[in-house]
Amino acid sequence: MAGNFDVAVVGAGIVGAACAYACARRGLTVVVLERAGLVAGATGSGEGNLLVSDKPPGPELDLALLSNGLWQHWEAELAGRYGDIELERKGGLIVTETAAGLVGLRATATAQAEAGVVVEPLDPAGVRGHEPAITRQVAGGVFYPQDMQVMPARAAAALLAAARDHGAEVRLRTEVTALLRNAAGRVVGVDTDAGPVAAGHVVNAAGAWAGRLGGSAGAAVPVAPRRGFVLVTEPVPPLVRHKVYSADYLDNVASGDAALQTSTVVEGTPAGTILIGASRELVDFDRRPNPDAVRQLARGAVRLFPALARVRLMRVYHGFRPFSPDHLPVIGPDPRAPGLVHAHGHEGAGIGLAPATGRLVAQVIAGDAPEVDLRPFDPFRFPAPREDARAAA
Ligand SMILES: Cc1cc2nc3c(=O)[nH]c(=O)nc-3n(C[C@H](O)[C@H](O)[C@H](O)COP(=O)(O)OP(=O)(O)OC[C@H]3O[C@@H](n4cnc5c(N)ncnc54)[C@H](O)[C@@H]3O)c2cc1C
Repeated sequence: MAGNFDVAVVGAGIVGAACAYACARRGLTVVVLERAGLVAGATGSGEGNLLVSDKPPGPELDLALLSNGLWQHWEAELAGRYGDIELERKGGLIVTETAAGLVGLRATATAQAEAGVVVEPLDPAGVRGHEPAITRQVAGGVFYPQDMQVMPARAAAALLAAARDHGAEVRLRTEVTALLRNAAGRVVGVDTDAGPVAAGHVVNAAGAWAGRLGGSAGAAVPVAPRRGFVLVTEPVPPLVRHKVYSADYLDNVASGDAALQTSTVVEGTPAGTILIGASRELVDFDRRPNPDAVRQLARGAVRLFPALARVRLMRVYHGFRPFSPDHLPVIGPDPRAPGLVHAHGHEGAGIGLAPATGRLVAQVIAGDAPEVDLRPFDPFRFPAPREDARAAA
């Protein structure tokens, strides 16, 4: 078999890039196998928010807090050598138009504060102090100074370049067609359209396609694509200072409903464009436009920032978030296929959670105790794969 690596990472999105970087800087030999070009998957569509604000206390918030520190640390490591990843410490603002909504927001913020998140409850004047152009209709909000943003494509490219400098190989246009197992059932590499590659560990970082890859080794996971559209406006003078979103976004993120759901998320970029989201639909890999989603997103944004009514849309794009049914990512070794390590299923938070995921994957592969309890992210926690495994046994 060609090459004998400690680690073969499947997928060069932000999660694969973070895994490759974290493993390579520990001295492991790494190959990244990507069937397309750089950031061909969800990473190329992500808005790049690194949020703690949208996560209730629990395992995902633990990952987000770890990642929050790591993003700042990694930015300092990458700065100057691999281009600007546009890390902005701009903070996030959640607002609501109703008194009942405000009660819910404040209760969530209190619980988050107990878990270590910095929260600043705001009355309507406080909200306008943060966002002068916001609608007068807000009942209040909560500001989260730890929320940040990166440019996902630049961040992934920088991490891969840094991994290369630590000895990693990155093979683009190389599709992994199957995981290879030895007679004892251990995963010992992958088959690709360019031939087999031997590796001590294989990291499944194939995003929304991760379920297909795991299935080739009897280690299926029910990760599915959840489509999202983003509207991009023409560049405008500074109008939206932070990431601003309506409280119903929290409900949409937590829902597993297959039908179209939209909530209002608005933010500026260093280039002056304004990004408007967020829609969610479970429609497999359907790439057709959805005018309803676009209409609802535009209406919501104008309602929150009335001045946007006079701003033109420049483009609309979509991507497929890797959705896991219980809204937690899938991270860690797979007991059904020793040697296989999962790193996917982050849905709408993969950019934010990538550094912690990479770090945990590197710790698992290096044989260290992971610094976050991996049980909530166990690949074997879903009912369907358990049954597959029993049937196969
Ligand atoms: C509209 C939208 C907005 C978003 N906004 C945010 C945000 O603000 N903040 C945030 O944290 N997250 C956001 N997300 C989610 C985020 O983009 C994803 O969680 C993240 O990009 C997932 O990264 P990944 O590396 O797991 O997957 P991907 O980026 O999809 O990468 C997987 C890669 O694997 C490759 N691959 C698949 N199968 C194979 C194979 N068999 N062989 C070789 N290669 C293979 C694919 O080509 C792909 O490049 C958003 C997503 C969308 C769609």
